[in-house]
Amino acid sequence: MRVGHGYDAHPFAGADRRADRTLVLGGVRFPDERPLVGHSDADVVAHAVIDAMLSAAGLGDIGTQFPDSDERWRGADSIEMLRQVSALLAEDGWQLANADCTVICDRPMIAPHRNQMQERLSSAAGGPVTVCGKRTEGLGTSEGIVAHAVALVIDGRKQ
Ligand code: MG
Repeated sequence: MRVGHGYDAHPFAGADRRADRTLVLGGVRFPDERPLVGHSDADVVAHAVIDAMLSAAGLGDIGTQFPDSDERWRGADSIEMLRQVSALLAEDGWQLANADCTVICDRPMIAPHRNQMQERLSSAAGGPVTVCGKRTEGLGTSEGIVAHAVALVIDGRKQ
């Protein structure tokens, strides 16, 4: 078994930063909320889980697997990227035991969408993924959204 940790942060779109997309967190769309800026769909939750899984398996990180200099990943669906990461792990003999992600933001409220996020993430990751939303009571969350994740992977060849 191996454990990995992932972290991601994306800034909100603003006057100086454009985003021609909807806010997506854990594969769930929030059309009425301020979107995040990023090369792909800027899904910080999926990205943190991806980094945790890649780290656990010793397969680098999201930047090495999906370079933001690569046009293929412009506006990419991060749930699809997570599905590809799960396949990469499987090729190397790893199976996700579970992953857990903490999303730090004051808006949107995560709790009402938590089950849907967990379902989307778990289905793509090939193992159970749990999500917890934390508010920071106004302590510096006006600039963007942050996510941390841990993942535990099992060496499937030893099962
Ligand atoms: Mg990211």
